[in-house]
Amino acid sequence: MSAVRFVPMEVTPQGAAPCGESDLLRLVELAGRTAYKSEDRITESSARAFVLMLKKHEHLSVLEHSNIVLKIGKTGTSPVHEFDLEAVSTAIVKALGPRNGFHRLFQTPGPTPDGFAMSGNLRSWIETLRSLDLQKISCRAFLARHLHRFFPSLFEDPVVSDAEWPIEVSLMSEAEQLELLRKYPESDLPLFVFKIVCDRGITHELVRHRVFSFTQESTRYVNYKNRGMILILPEELQPFHDAQGERLTGESPTVAEWHRRAEALFEWYRGDVERGLKPEIARDILPNLLKSEIFVSGRWSGWEHFIRLRDSRHAHPRIRFIAREVRKYFESIDLKIEDTRD
Ligand SMILES: Cc1cc2nc3c(=O)[nH]c(=O)nc-3n(C[C@H](O)[C@H](O)[C@H](O)COP(=O)(O)OP(=O)(O)OC[C@H]3O[C@@H](n4cnc5c(N)ncnc54)[C@H](O)[C@@H]3O)c2cc1C
Repeated sequence: MSAVRFVPMEVTPQGAAPCGESDLLRLVELAGRTAYKSEDRITESSARAFVLMLKKHEHLSVLEHSNIVLKIGKTGTSPVHEFDLEAVSTAIVKALGPRNGFHRLFQTPGPTPDGFAMSGNLRSWIETLRSLDLQKISCRAFLARHLHRFFPSLFEDPVVSDAEWPIEVSLMSEAEQLELLRKYPESDLPLFVFKIVCDRGITHELVRHRVFSFTQESTRYVNYKNRGMILILPEELQPFHDAQGERLTGESPTVAEWHRRAEALFEWYRGDVERGLKPEIARDILPNLLKSEIFVSGRWSGWEHFIRLRDSRHAHPRIRFIAREVRKYFESIDLKIEDTRD
């Protein structure tokens, strides 16, 4: 069997990032292991240690594939505390300063607001707490205390009383976040995660969207010598592709030519690794068409912008394919983007 295979692109929505600790850890682990292609090491109990290892080594970008939304104020049926919630949200905004950009604060409009919601990914929360650390304000103790309550593996107990801010705090579920988003698109609380299989040329276009978070299969760490080289099926070869066998069929000269070129490139790579070069150096010869797996996470505002730019005839056909699949996912959960396609 040839060491070169051709596979089609794939877009797999992972849904809104989960709010509970164990599901959150599992998603971060799955995204993180994509970089090293070590998914086979995932077990029932591997997520916590893996995420803590990332945290310890400051590989915090992987922790961005997560979302923690705190509901601050009234919970359940208990009455709102006398405490002035508006003063609390103002104090938080003031304390966060430039870090506000990494969070969303949203208060339900209306005459009787029962609190507000504050979101951020795991990395944002970790770094926000660090930035507040130096400031002797109750804001830090308050946030740290509640983050520790819900995510004891990830946030230390600040061991201080939150008596100064006696407000109820709960986690907002994905369903609640989505309901708010449909009603108030500006709330922008949920974080939507997609796993995308595409070529390296297209991942390079994806990562230009700076408001998203990314974790991508690494050509530095993954050694393709024994795995073989997988390429994304180019448009020209689609009529010859047998999806089940992940191979090309037919006697076409086009197929033969593609195989010949791809095998020559892979032989170059394999030869370099065999003579002792590291994969990170041998990769220089790998083509843009190399299959790459990437997790991409972002909020509705980011994905809406992405679809507007990329589901367009001006965009590359393969990133347009991705934008259309993302659009389909959002339509399936009743989030529509005006169709301005040309
Ligand atoms: C059809 C098409 C052709 C393209 N051709 C090229 C090309 O030839 N060469 C090339 O280099 N790129 C090209 N690009 C990529 C393009 O320039 C953008 O990098 C990419 O589309 C991401 O868009 P964005 O910056 O709006 O999105 P994001 O980076 O996701 O930003 C979203 C929004 O956040 C705000 N924002 C984010 N960062 C900043 C910042 N630092 N300062 C101010 N505001 C910010 C802006 O409002 C921005 O619209 C092309 C894109 C398209 C769609």
